[in-house]
Amino acid sequence: MIATHNAGKLKEISALLLPYGVKCISAGSLGLPEPAETGTTFVQNAMLKARAATEASGLPALADDSGLSVAALDGRPGVYTADWAERQWFEGSPGRDWYMAMGKVEGMLQAKGPDVLRDAWFSCVLALAWPDGESAVYEGRVDGALTWPPRGEMGFGYDPVFVPAGRNQTFAEIAPEEKHTISHRADAFAKLVAEQFGG
Ligand code: IMP
Repeated sequence: MIATHNAGKLKEISALLLPYGVKCISAGSLGLPEPAETGTTFVQNAMLKARAATEASGLPALADDSGLSVAALDGRPGVYTADWAERQWFEGSPGRDWYMAMGKVEGMLQAKGPDVLRDAWFSCVLALAWPDGESAVYEGRVDGALTWPPRGEMGFGYDPVFVPAGRNQTFAEIAPEEKHTISHRADAFAKLVAEQFGG
């Protein structure tokens, strides 16, 4: 089972696991509650979601936690990546505003001066948990640099400002099929598949 309430994540993960004969259902479709992400690391949050899902369902569960870290901001927003996009404090317009979140990161970078280091990386942690208490964790990462203004229409979240190392295009200008071969999620999945399915 995939410990997610996000249909996009379920689709991406199901496709990645299909070749291994693993059938996936989401925590959302089983009506499981979404646990609060109270951890201070990606590993803690991914494990917390996987454990909650396996305990509530009695099925093996896979959860992921991901985010953007910026070197010059001491790794922020990190585990708070999604929170930085929340605009619920604007009355009447709850939800996430990625343009605002990208602007916030850029504003903090520019405040550090014109020569600020623009290095950043996306992290993805996959946590597997079994009903008997067994668990496993796989960490993936893609390094790159932040650009401004945002460019590209594809992808999601912070993709329009992230240029992966060795490329000139942002993640939002790179076709999803190609992004999925170089991303933090691909890196973590490759490690999971190698260990759980022997390659
Ligand atoms: P969570 O893993 O659902 O807690 O959310 C992490 C947040 O990190 C997402 O809402 C995105 O904003 C951001 N993020 C994670 N992976 C990517 C990516 O591949 N591109 C752009 N943003 C991402």
